[in-house]
Amino acid sequence: MEDTYRHKGMRRRLVEGLRKRGIRDEKVLEAIGTLPRHFFLDKAFEDHAYQDKAFPIGNDQTISQPYTVAYMTELLEVEKRHKTLEVGTGSGYQACILAQLGARVYSIERQKDLYDRAKTLLPSMGYPQIRLFYRDGYKGLPEYAPFDRIIVTAGAPYIPEALREQLAIGGIMVIPVGEYDQTMVRVRRIAENLFEEEPLGPFRFVPFVEGLNE
Ligand code: SAH
Repeated sequence: MEDTYRHKGMRRRLVEGLRKRGIRDEKVLEAIGTLPRHFFLDKAFEDHAYQDKAFPIGNDQTISQPYTVAYMTELLEVEKRHKTLEVGTGSGYQACILAQLGARVYSIERQKDLYDRAKTLLPSMGYPQIRLFYRDGYKGLPEYAPFDRIIVTAGAPYIPEALREQLAIGGIMVIPVGEYDQTMVRVRRIAENLFEEEPLGPFRFVPFVEGLNE
């Protein structure tokens, strides 16, 4: 696939739309303006890639809406070199946005097909440094913890204890919590046993399912 002037133009308009909807972080807007979202979608959806919508990526999963990606990334306050765990690789788009911001990205996916696809796509797009794992996100990645940042991109019925434990002190986790509809929650780990939870706006995600899909 190619990244043409037409795609770049659509991407600029998408960024302007996100700005109008309230996204303020210039670095986040720049990352979205840089990364060709159509590379993550099926060729059939190429012309829809720059609408502010979620799209199917196979295996009953979706690539999140650009607004949701921008909103969550802004909440995450990612800085260069931050060790960042993403749960729910899906298309790999969010992982690349984090890498674009200079984070050291670790991303987990429970669907083998999606994991395999991202494993090929991400290095080919110039992000060989993103570390991908075919694992159950409920368990996190204990051997790489603690993480400065954790982002969960599937709707979680509750906040898994393992993910709290793997958050560095002073770290931030952004996670949509709720069984059917979710409330975005920003969790800050203030001290070993002190977590501050800030409930934010309503969202709807595909479910955070326990265990691998084998
Ligand atoms: N961040 C993705 C959005 C993917 S949708 C993107 O940018 O495209 C959510 C993803 O979470 C799906 O791919 C789904 O398979 C995955 N998921 C759900 N439960 C999971 C679990 N327990 N562990 C890891 N991934 C999970």
